[in-house]
Amino acid sequence: MPPLLSIDEALALVLQHAKPLGAELVPIEHAAGRFLADDVHARIDLPPFRSSAMDGFALRAADTPGSLPVVARIPAGRPAAAALRAGEAMGIATGGAIPDGADAVVPIELVEDREDVVEVPASVDTSANVRDKGSDLRRGDLLLPSGSRLGPAQIGALAAVGLAEVRCGRRPLVAILSTGSELRRPGVELGPGEIYESNASMIAAALESAGAEVTRLESVADEPGLHRAALERGLEADVLVSSGGVSVGPHDLVREIGAELGIDQVFWGVAVKPGKPLAFGRRGDTLVFGLPGNPVSALVAVELFVRPAVLARQGASEQVPAYLTGTLGAPLRASTARDQLVRARSRIEDGEVVLEPLSGQESHMIARAAGADALVLVRRGERDSLAGDRLPFLRL
Ligand code: AMP
Ligand code: MG
Repeated sequence: MPPLLSIDEALALVLQHAKPLGAELVPIEHAAGRFLADDVHARIDLPPFRSSAMDGFALRAADTPGSLPVVARIPAGRPAAAALRAGEAMGIATGGAIPDGADAVVPIELVEDREDVVEVPASVDTSANVRDKGSDLRRGDLLLPSGSRLGPAQIGALAAVGLAEVRCGRRPLVAILSTGSELRRPGVELGPGEIYESNASMIAAALESAGAEVTRLESVADEPGLHRAALERGLEADVLVSSGGVSVGPHDLVREIGAELGIDQVFWGVAVKPGKPLAFGRRGDTLVFGLPGNPVSALVAVELFVRPAVLARQGASEQVPAYLTGTLGAPLRASTARDQLVRARSRIEDGEVVLEPLSGQESHMIARAAGADALVLVRRGERDSLAGDRLPFLRL
């Protein structure tokens, strides 16, 4: 294996190759979790007209306190026919258009409504409960920059400015391939020496949550012809993610067959535990990740490198994993050679995140990893960490 890259070096190389795939129009009802391909500007003022923030009475602040004749009642969606004149009041609903001439709204709770007349006992401030036209956003202003992830608030805002569809980065098609003669799919009986194939479902779950469209290939035994056929099919996707067979054993065929098929290796080997034998390359526009087979290694490699690539191919502005800071609940050994991502369970104590490392940190222990909700980063070469130290972690 060549000298190992640091996590940051490897991620930089991945992102250097992970170019956006182009854009497509997406109806906003299907845009949740997508990424904007362009800056989006407001096409209208928001609110589009001066409106009331309360159910109450529109009036002139200068006429309060006082007893004012109610000359109209304004529901939402139907503006008053005439302007309000000095000394008058108009009933108004939340969201109703404030009539010309009025400069304030007094809430219904603060007055006595006598049908034809409203008694306003106290003076009302100018502009009280008035939402000015354009006070949220003005026509032409930037609503959301390109690369924004569309969550509920963003989709609500796009709808509020009247957009029925937006241009989003295309979702990458990701082919997932598991390699290993010992693998059986869940649901069938295991024979001697066999284990259930678990990486494909795990990788699919992770990458679908990042916006990928996943296609799963049939697992292949450690046999060159089967590898060749499956990898060739996977190379039709935008991203090919294999697991297993990238280490240094005689049955590890993925890199060798990949090279035969014209995959250019960008790197092989990252100074990270678990996940060291990760291979990354490309053929044409297809990015190729060869993940180690051990399930926890594959999980970590997906979070550190493949998820960022899937985000980058959609044009996401935030691609790199977001490390938070938490307090360690128990000591941890640092390694001299590799950065470690330690599976931990987090809890909140006095408003602080406390990270409790789990027992069973070996890279085959996916069942133990299932109890984790955090990956704690312990940098190589640092002193061992003590309970109470503040360390970076990733949310799982
Ligand atoms: P490999 O990287 O092929 O040497 O595999 C390392 C370890 O991971 C071995 O114990 C394999 O049996 C196991 N493994 C490989 N692929 C998978 C998979 N798709 N699901 C579960 N375990 C796997
Ligand atoms: Mg194998």
